[in-house]
Amino acid sequence: FIIPEFTTFCENIEDLYWKVKSKTDGKVASYIPQLARYSPDLWGVSVCTIDGQRYSIGDVDVPVCLQSVSKPLTYALVLNEQTPEVVHQYVGHEPSGRQFNEIKLSADNKPHNPLINSGAIVLCSLLKQDFNLADRFDYTSQMFKRLAGNEHLSFNNSVFLSERETADRNFALGYYLREYKCFPKGTNLMETLDFYFQLCSVEVTAQSGSVIAASLANGGICPITGERVLDAGAVRNTLSLMHSCGMYDYSGQFAFDVGLPAKSGVSGSVMLVVPNVMGVYMWAPPLDQYGNSCKGIEFCEELVDKFNFHNYDNL
Ligand code: GLN
Repeated sequence: FIIPEFTTFCENIEDLYWKVKSKTDGKVASYIPQLARYSPDLWGVSVCTIDGQRYSIGDVDVPVCLQSVSKPLTYALVLNEQTPEVVHQYVGHEPSGRQFNEIKLSADNKPHNPLINSGAIVLCSLLKQDFNLADRFDYTSQMFKRLAGNEHLSFNNSVFLSERETADRNFALGYYLREYKCFPKGTNLMETLDFYFQLCSVEVTAQSGSVIAASLANGGICPITGERVLDAGAVRNTLSLMHSCGMYDYSGQFAFDVGLPAKSGVSGSVMLVVPNVMGVYMWAPPLDQYGNSCKGIEFCEELVDKFNFHNYDNL
């Protein structure tokens, strides 16, 4: 086993879970009513190792929409089909140092990276471009489900509808991107934005999310089914950008303190990857000033304090 003393390890995870549970700061996202309805007390942590050992505690069976956690998955799917050289003609590799939804491009007029809204919207236009929208959604949700080892994956239509209803900023971004010719030829802007909102509205549970994280930790092979879902190179590139750009404007400090690739979303999810060891999915809706789950961040920090998972820990 990759984690030999798994029972002891789980006892430690449980202790951390209760320790972090008492942290009650942060505010639940309120930009759409569907997110504002999440109870601030929800708190779940699921672990899945690359050899399929599982541990879950708390609210790990409640569906939660991926929101920005879908962004690295979209990026990985595009890289799975096209070379990084082609993909990065459309999107950069650098942290933006700006809000995730800011209307700003890099000096060469591309979105800074695929993990902010502008980059993710452009990536949506690249994913299975030649399919119609229904088939693109089917393809993508099936790939997400394979990464999740066929465990829970759903689509929350009311999140999608209210997301689209209130998405002035994302529409503005879309037009701005089109003005700067950021999309490939033949892109239908409205369809691309719909696709982006749909992928934000895909739901996992902490349990199924931990399997997705574990598939990334395992180089693209799902540890539950043994199926290779993603090319190892696509996963490597995805983890690199999660490491530098995954946690909004806290990404630099997160890389410093935790030293692991992760991605957060406004629903309060944090998907953490410990490469070659395990995936962890944390969910607690209250967010800090950057938009990261307060409990999720705290848990990640406690985890690397306790174990030497930080990329630059001395072994
Ligand atoms: N639906 C959100 C948006 O596009 C997702 C962003 C996020 O999770 N930060 O604004």
